[in-house]
Amino acid sequence: MRTGIATVCLSGTLKEKMQACAIAGFDGIEIFEQDLVTSTLSPEDVRKMAADLGLGLDLYQPFRDFDGVTPDLLKANLRRAEAKFGLMSRLGMDTILVCSNVATATIDDDGLRASQLAQLAELAGDHGIKVAYEALAWGKYVNDYEHAYRLVEMVDHPNLGTCLDSFHILSRDWDTAPIEDINADKIFFVQVADAPKLTMDVLSWSRHYRVFPGEGQFELAKFMGHVVRAGYTGPVSLEVFNDVFRQSDVERTAVDAMRSLIWLEEQSAKWLAAAAEAEGGGSAAIRRRYPMELATLPKVNEPAGFNFAEVKADDTAQLEKLLGQLGFAFEGRHRTKDVQLWTMGQARVIINEQAASHAEPAIAALGFDVDSPVIASARAQQLKAPVVARKVQADEEVFQGISAPDSTEIFLCQGSPDGTAAWTAEFGQAGELGEGLERSSSGAGAVIDHVNLAQPWQHFDEAVLFYTSALALEPQPFAEVPSPSGLVRSQVMQTTDGAVRLVLNLAPAQQAQSEVRKTYQEHIAFAVDNLVATARAARERGLEFLQIPANYYEDLDARFDLEPGFLATLQELNLLYDRDASGEFLHFYTATVGSVFFEMVERRGNYDGYGAPNAPVRHAVQYDHRQHASLQRH
Ligand code: MG
Ligand code: MG
Repeated sequence: MRTGIATVCLSGTLKEKMQACAIAGFDGIEIFEQDLVTSTLSPEDVRKMAADLGLGLDLYQPFRDFDGVTPDLLKANLRRAEAKFGLMSRLGMDTILVCSNVATATIDDDGLRASQLAQLAELAGDHGIKVAYEALAWGKYVNDYEHAYRLVEMVDHPNLGTCLDSFHILSRDWDTAPIEDINADKIFFVQVADAPKLTMDVLSWSRHYRVFPGEGQFELAKFMGHVVRAGYTGPVSLEVFNDVFRQSDVERTAVDAMRSLIWLEEQSAKWLAAAAEAEGGGSAAIRRRYPMELATLPKVNEPAGFNFAEVKADDTAQLEKLLGQLGFAFEGRHRTKDVQLWTMGQARVIINEQAASHAEPAIAALGFDVDSPVIASARAQQLKAPVVARKVQADEEVFQGISAPDSTEIFLCQGSPDGTAAWTAEFGQAGELGEGLERSSSGAGAVIDHVNLAQPWQHFDEAVLFYTSALALEPQPFAEVPSPSGLVRSQVMQTTDGAVRLVLNLAPAQQAQSEVRKTYQEHIAFAVDNLVATARAARERGLEFLQIPANYYEDLDARFDLEPGFLATLQELNLLYDRDASGEFLHFYTATVGSVFFEMVERRGNYDGYGAPNAPVRHAVQYDHRQHASLQRH
């Protein structure tokens, strides 16, 4: 698959954009007119630079408002086109995007449109240029890709073809299957963009909310599958207008973009195989080759569970106290490293004091159980995930690590059927538990239930694609949670069986990156069999619970009509409660140390959520605490 990207996707100058595209490994780019007009580089400079960087200049765009106009306007439009064709020959480019008329078309007549496009194609032919005609989703008369293709067929000129843009097609919910009926020679270009499903006018949706494939909710593998089955072999190019990407680091966005195409290529191959199987084609059909070669990646299954969570801290006393009070057992220190292991059932928490000087406690790393750490790591690296190096002694387990977009370290660990982890043998015998702490037996069935990570706004979409592509987690529809300092967008990424649940919270945009973790705390949640017993034992050990306001319990009673004794227990222990058709959810939160707090949960029945109705209460109480703390400091 030939990969491409429009320069409009990226921040910076044309030169910076081109360099970033080359570094990220794109085959070619689309030159967005405005990037050239505002550049100090001459067309000849751009041409040379592209050649030096090994980048093809695959498409010049956009040429707007050409067709369906009066004779006077047509004359002016042809003059305008000729100037651009001249410019393109200086750039050494041969394909221009012409989008369906939005503004100046006054005549709704396919015959007239075809005759005007025929004149354009003829002129283009004189300059050796190909015109790719695209139906904009909000085109005045032409807004459907099949309509655009009908016009191309009517004109029947070698220099006129069509451009298929996934956004314009999927935003209008057009059926993508008829793409297969398009003559491949007439598909001059293919653009891909994903988007969240939003209810708003299509133009604003397109200009601000497009995202890279895998970061939204469009069925792009299916779209691409039909394009491949049509026989298309040209560039597959990202055209993503997005407010965030235009402000983000250019090289980083280019890598994120490339990752999205590598992933889409694999997903398209999978879709084709699945479609062939569903159509009963047999193994030959499933293995059928198409003119476009699709590369695949090392295959991974969903992770089977969390292997561990790691919190980094300089001063570990408060963390140790919290874990002890929750009923975790101290399993000792690592043989060679400044690292402690705490466990409850199969839930393992590492406290890492290495290279943590003056660091407030924060979630630093997560381990996931995978079938094969080597294969999973190879896949992640092919998806351009940065590798994390960890110093290990000769006889210690080597962890395959990659860095997530928010720089959380992700370790791919060898899962075992009984949920144990061999590396725990590297930790010494259990040392002294703190004063007043005893080993708890109530947590035998405990596991890490979910981990909640705050994401800086610049890296949120990138994080969704990272966990989708590298770790095979499935993004769930996102929710928005009100908090005293803004709406928090909450994106659950999880495995089908719910064994791994990762919640990405987007901090409101005005937060400086260094403030994100401080203000939007992160947490590790542990599931236990009996939350009331866990809470009582923790209270006896002196745990400081997040205090839930009495108003909450009145509201809870109004909503759920709870048995009075049960409601009193919830209130007494500061427990939160939720219920839906599939089951019940009980949970409580600890106070925060540094930027991290813990949550204990009990899932009853098949409850699959996270107590979302309770999240605003948690945010408000934590906000109150921070205000108090800062008042005390001043
Ligand atoms: Mg387009
Ligand atoms: Mg939670």
